[in-house]
Amino acid sequence: MKRLIMTASLAMAIGCTADIAPESIKVADYKDGKECAISLTFDDSMKEHYTIVAPELEKRGFRGTFWMCGAWMPAEPQHDTTHFTWAEAKKMSEKGHEMSNHSWSHQYMTALSDEDLAREIRMNDEAILKNLGKASTTFCFPYNSYDERTIAAVMEGRIGARLKEFWLGGQHSPKEYLTEQVENALASGSWIAGMTHGINYGYDCYTDPTEFTDFLDYLKSLEDRIWVGTFRDVAAYTAVAKDVELTIEASGKGVTITPKTSLDKALYETPLTLEVAAEGKKIKAKQDGKVLSPIYRNNMAYIDFCPYGGPVTIQ
Ligand SMILES: [Zn+2]
Repeated sequence: MKRLIMTASLAMAIGCTADIAPESIKVADYKDGKECAISLTFDDSMKEHYTIVAPELEKRGFRGTFWMCGAWMPAEPQHDTTHFTWAEAKKMSEKGHEMSNHSWSHQYMTALSDEDLAREIRMNDEAILKNLGKASTTFCFPYNSYDERTIAAVMEGRIGARLKEFWLGGQHSPKEYLTEQVENALASGSWIAGMTHGINYGYDCYTDPTEFTDFLDYLKSLEDRIWVGTFRDVAAYTAVAKDVELTIEASGKGVTITPKTSLDKALYETPLTLEVAAEGKKIKAKQDGKVLSPIYRNNMAYIDFCPYGGPVTIQ
């Protein structure tokens, strides 16, 4: 993020500059000024993601990212109880979960020819678009099999790929390990992604499934500090926050912040959060005629705005 701060000298001279310190204004690292971000991601289109995971996330106001392989997804539910169907994927998508691309048939991508690699990506993209009416804008490599060539192939028209994750599954993730992942993310202000497969059955399932819901409750208890967001949403936010340029002009009437980003709105659409030192004061904010509602925490005001919109005025 770049900031250009201009202060109207006349207003300064007559001593009526706004109360808001223009130098305190910046784009928050994460939405609503949260200290870190966690994406909960679920691999392999498993039926339990539809029957258990999505409802448990929704109960807590969370949304997940589900990496799907079209070749495994049955057209008719009665033929397969292991994987969710396209109709079920559509319902999850409509509830705000991210339904994204894990390749068509779960191959080691680095072992594929350019042609086969392109087909594995394209067939799943086409199936997702056809069945959900929404394009996949992120990617997850089966078996974490990726290299420069495969990354370049998937990143065309996409905003991110999961290249690093922490285990969020029974055998590999005792409670202490999970707590450590979250504490490290908070301490370093990082974005981390959890990887889960089965809950009651399948690869890396839980010996005690309540460990999964306990972890969700733990995240919920830290909601003021942690942004639990889909992989797509955090990828879009962090990319635009890094790219955006703010021109900040202070006058006697307040502060005007004009955002400018070169990233494609269709792909990277996201709100950003302005961070402003509030010092106990209430702030009035507007953009394009719309009143924006700040959230106050620790003497700061956090104001969501559209980085593709017009100037934001604050008083
Ligand atoms: Zn997988």
